[in-house]
Amino acid sequence: MNYKRPKGTADILPNETKKWQFVEKTAKKVLDAYRFNEIRTPLFESFDLFSRGVGETSDIVSKEMYDFYDKGKRHIALRPEGTASIVRAYVENKLYGPEHGKPLKVYYNGPMFRYERPQSGRMRQFHQLGVEVFGSRNPETDVETMALAMDLFRAFGLKQLTLVVNSLGDVETRKAYREALIAFLEPHFENLSKDSQERLHKNPLRVLDSKDKKDQEIVKDAPSILDYLTEESASHFEKVKAMMDDLEIPYTIDHRMVRGLDYYTDTIFEIMSDAPGFGALTTICAGGRYNGLVEEVGGPETPGFGFAFGLERLLMTLDAENIEIPDESPLDVYVVGIGSSTSAETFKVVQALRQQGITAEKDFMNRKPKAQFKTADKLKARVVMTLGEDELKEGTISFKAMATGKQTKINLADIYTDNFKNQFVQELAVLTADEK
Ligand code: ATP
Ligand code: MG
Repeated sequence: MNYKRPKGTADILPNETKKWQFVEKTAKKVLDAYRFNEIRTPLFESFDLFSRGVGETSDIVSKEMYDFYDKGKRHIALRPEGTASIVRAYVENKLYGPEHGKPLKVYYNGPMFRYERPQSGRMRQFHQLGVEVFGSRNPETDVETMALAMDLFRAFGLKQLTLVVNSLGDVETRKAYREALIAFLEPHFENLSKDSQERLHKNPLRVLDSKDKKDQEIVKDAPSILDYLTEESASHFEKVKAMMDDLEIPYTIDHRMVRGLDYYTDTIFEIMSDAPGFGALTTICAGGRYNGLVEEVGGPETPGFGFAFGLERLLMTLDAENIEIPDESPLDVYVVGIGSSTSAETFKVVQALRQQGITAEKDFMNRKPKAQFKTADKLKARVVMTLGEDELKEGTISFKAMATGKQTKINLADIYTDNFKNQFVQELAVLTADEK
């Protein structure tokens, strides 16, 4: 039998997970600083939640859903994105109650599923980290959340980033603009791509972000949605821009930028990578304001703001910018045993070190001493402890700091005392004193 993983999925192998953990750990630190709490929701939900929440005409719902009927004949879908589920959880668990605080700031991290044509940076199971803020209509929330996104990417080490901002206005804006856009596009109908012809009356805004060259040529002269903002939406957008300037957060405005999800209102944004050699998929993060979604899902009128980024695409960007991932769990000690009579004791030593929170490894393959030293090098152990038959008899073990090559002998019995960790740190400091 020859099993293969499903098309569009990936095995994340042990030598790659360090990168994932670096991103997750770094993200958690930044999210903590901004006071966001984690929320975890099911990987599947009722199909209707997404068709309502994300929008029936969106690509995600109309083409990319992994949906099925379960044994109880319920129409289920694997989640294609995070926001609809989080909004459902917000409403179902009454997170709008006063005991939860306002605004409520949450983040999530996990797999998403979309039936797409797989290619580099586009998968059927991929991972998103996202945030949502509920309950604040204040433009400060737009700015805080965009600043958080930029801070996250900077914490990962990325430098070549562009923040692109636009406003989609409110319902009234959209209605007026929709009419103006359809009126503009109709005379070009014959020259539009098939996709755009279909979208013209269903979801004309999507024609603006068509990837078709001819569409893009036509759309160049389309009216700007920014000219159709209601007074309220225009004032909101002005405040956002002024605060961004005030906080010295660089951004550009693209009035043709729209989003694939139907729920956005007012401010939307994308973060693009400018790293050379990164190919066509340069959007690594996207989000914005969604003032009607909580109501749409059955909750009280509650404004929202959020974003999500794809971890696979982020890791590709880190590669494209040649960013070195720091080793967050270096090996403290490799214990070498010389002679078969030492192996029981080396095992005890390794276990005692681990109990003290010192990372430790030994040979489990009966390798010769030379091969054990080689392994210690390869694993970049900070300290090599060597136990020979003589040392075992006199109750000592040699302790070598690999950074300087200096060594000493310590009592085996010390390793089994409760505060060996302090002694370990001190011994190592003495042996590496010249290095600093
Ligand atoms: P695209 O235009 O590339 O299809 P999108 O508009 O569908 O993107 P969103 O739904 O806004 O993307 O998702 C936010 C982020 O999630 C994207 O910027 C990207 O990093 C990531 N993402 C989306 N779809 C996929 C996928 N199929 N595979 C890997 N990452 C993805
Ligand atoms: Mg997509």
